[in-house]
Amino acid sequence: MIDLGQFEPSRDAALSKLRGVKPSTYGKTRNFLNGKVTKLSPWITHGMLSLKEVAEHGWKTEGIGLEDKLIFELGWREFFQHVHRQVGDNILRDMRPGVWPGKYARELPADFLHGQTGVKPIDWAVRSLYETGYLHNHARMWVASYLVHLRKVSWRSGADWMYGYLLDGDLASNHLSWQWVAGTFSHKPYLFNAENVQKYAPELACKGSVIDTSYDDLEDIARSSKTLQPVGRSVSNEVQEVGEGPGLQSWPMDKDLLNLMGTRKVDAEWCKKWAGKALKLVHPWALREKRVGTYHLGVIAPQFHSKFPWSEKRWAFVLQAMARCCDTIVILDSDNLQNLRMALQNEALVPSSVEIDWTAHPVYCDLHTRLRIRQNPPDLLLPEPKMLQTSFSKFYRKACDMAGSLDDLIDTATT
Ligand SMILES: Cc1cc2nc3c(=O)[nH]c(=O)nc-3n(C[C@H](O)[C@H](O)[C@H](O)COP(=O)(O)OP(=O)(O)OC[C@H]3O[C@@H](n4cnc5c(N)ncnc54)[C@H](O)[C@@H]3O)c2cc1C
Repeated sequence: MIDLGQFEPSRDAALSKLRGVKPSTYGKTRNFLNGKVTKLSPWITHGMLSLKEVAEHGWKTEGIGLEDKLIFELGWREFFQHVHRQVGDNILRDMRPGVWPGKYARELPADFLHGQTGVKPIDWAVRSLYETGYLHNHARMWVASYLVHLRKVSWRSGADWMYGYLLDGDLASNHLSWQWVAGTFSHKPYLFNAENVQKYAPELACKGSVIDTSYDDLEDIARSSKTLQPVGRSVSNEVQEVGEGPGLQSWPMDKDLLNLMGTRKVDAEWCKKWAGKALKLVHPWALREKRVGTYHLGVIAPQFHSKFPWSEKRWAFVLQAMARCCDTIVILDSDNLQNLRMALQNEALVPSSVEIDWTAHPVYCDLHTRLRIRQNPPDLLLPEPKMLQTSFSKFYRKACDMAGSLDDLIDTATT
């Protein structure tokens, strides 16, 4: 069985983690690598916990409002989702011209992939990501900045790589954050140096390394063809074996996981299971608990996963959670998709109702139109401005004006 460490893929585990969250401590310590961040992101990404529930916990335990740091950070997630909803797959391309017009590499350097760059915070972050499937926000920013600006790797390659290993991998938060660091979704490159690491993660201090330099030097590198190559390290075969990340896979290789997913053929006979009952299609971003009287059909869309492969840990997290909240899981290849569509239109097999929750993830976001079923609206914490907002501060200001107060939002949510 794959070890998921502290991230047990269940709603109970999410609720238990939530009970330990203290917004006041979070606000004071969140920037430090050993600060009291919530580590709720894997459950939030996969729909096991909503932002409203996190906000409500802060409101009930400490009476926090919209100006609180925790709500502000939840706002970043809503902002990225808002942009994804508005511009769709364009989040996967430069949102604006980059900070340097040259060509960035598509391949990630081997020393980086093996955690052997010689820059302690980067090497630690790469290994830690492989091991746990989680990284602190500051470590994510350091990795992205190092790869894009100092090694001249395209943000898209870095983003795809990180997305595959994170248990909380979310295209909007991940790819737009990479663009924010790269300067294609912000007005300047995000840069960090050894002093910054010393302040936020003294245990990873890297005085004397290539990043022990001034911000002016780093800015000059970011805006030119210059790079900072690793010094005096070669990646030996032995080190490669130890440090090399587990591969990313379109499909889980683990036999137990494959069994969870099954290889079921959708046909009319099988679809009788839900005839006359409520049917809910459950995708990987909406893994809520089962509702009594509803048939929960887990769906995996291979076209998405061949484009955005996941680590085995991520597959384990998703499929174990899916096994808990679905009656069956099917792979929606083109045959199964067509058969399911026909079954849903066949009067003898029609469910009493059929629905799927909203997601902006490619392929999954079109399932409701392809199957002609109802899509539930996104479960938002903040009211969403109608027009596209590309600046977080404007988005947040507008959303807060529309909301009034957190009390109003929570009241509305609970009544
Ligand atoms: C390069 C890069 C890649 C990232 N990739 C992802 C990703 O794939 N999925 C993802 O959920 N987040 C991503 N983030 C945002 C952020 O790093 C994580 O949400 C956060 O670190 C998750 O840990 P946590 O739950 O302990 O966060 P906490 O600090 O405890 O925050 C609580 C929740 O607020 C939200 N949140 C907090 N900060 C941010 C932020 N800056 N942007 C968006 N949401 C935020 C998350 O839902 C998080 O779970 C990325 C950031 C960077 C710089």
